[in-house]
Amino acid sequence: MSVKIALVGRPNVGKSTLFNRLVGKRLALVDDTPGVTRDRREGEARLGDLSFTVVDTPGLEEAPEAALEGRMRKQTDIALAEAAACLFLIDARAGVTPLDKTFASILRASGKPVILLANKAEGSAGDAGLYDAYGLGVGEPLAISAEHGEGMAELYNLLEPFL
Ligand code: GDP
Ligand code: MG
Repeated sequence: MSVKIALVGRPNVGKSTLFNRLVGKRLALVDDTPGVTRDRREGEARLGDLSFTVVDTPGLEEAPEAALEGRMRKQTDIALAEAAACLFLIDARAGVTPLDKTFASILRASGKPVILLANKAEGSAGDAGLYDAYGLGVGEPLAISAEHGEGMAELYNLLEPFL
């Protein structure tokens, strides 16, 4: 069984896009607890010569606003439970949101190593969000573009120590 790395962050930051980039077609659906982790996915990720298990957290688009935070906490806890480290994504174009700050405090409390990824940073549209991301207090952000495959060599260097 390879080391697990969890993808965490609020909806729409690009977790599933990064999952798909890392896993390609090597997807395995996992047994889910109904109503809690309905579409959580795990897959064997490849990044250069690294291989690891990446755990996605599901979309919560249908959750009522009031229930969103609690459900995200639960699913984040599940994803983190067996993970050696997590990739915490924010949307660099949107900047840091209150929900990102909530995630940052959950992650700080978890004690798991956090690799902060400022996604959607292709071009310069993400520059402001990248600087804001330092304020989350979970370390230095790495600018990436999950969609365009930018920042993957730097991500390799950050992940290698955990694998
Ligand atoms: P998730 O909810 O965190 O899993 O986010 P998704 O992976 O579903 O992505 C949400 C939206 O952001 C989709 O429309 C993606 O195409 C878009 N997206 C993801 N990564 C990037 C990126 O690197 N750059 C840009 N511009 N858009 C992205
Ligand atoms: Mg998703």
